Amino acid sequence: MIGAAGVQETLQQRREELVARADRARDDAAHRGEAVSQDFSEQAAERQNDEVLRGIESAARAEIDRIDEALGRLQRGEYGLCVKCGRDIERPRLEAIPYADRCQSCADH
Ligand SMILES: [Zn+2]
Repeated sequence: MIGAAGVQETLQQRREELVARADRARDDAAHRGEAVSQDFSEQAAERQNDEVLRGIESAARAEIDRIDEALGRLQRGEYGLCVKCGRDIERPRLEAIPYADRCQSCADH
């Protein structure tokens, strides 16, 4: 059993990083929208860049959702249990992905 307090701290730290990253990506994309370049190739590059930024933002928000779910499981005392088969999730897996909700074999299948 992994110490709940340590896990909560890890998850919350990660969440703060992700919120900062998502907000930064959103702000960067918004900023670029203000000064639209006249040059077509520059416009294309900016659009591509905005797509990258949007990708970063949505990936970060998706991970935040998973962290929120993990924090909820932690509060309900269900953290570290596979949502599919109910067994303990392997410790190395939880250390690698603190918000993992499935054990290795359920995640693989
Ligand atoms: Zn499982």
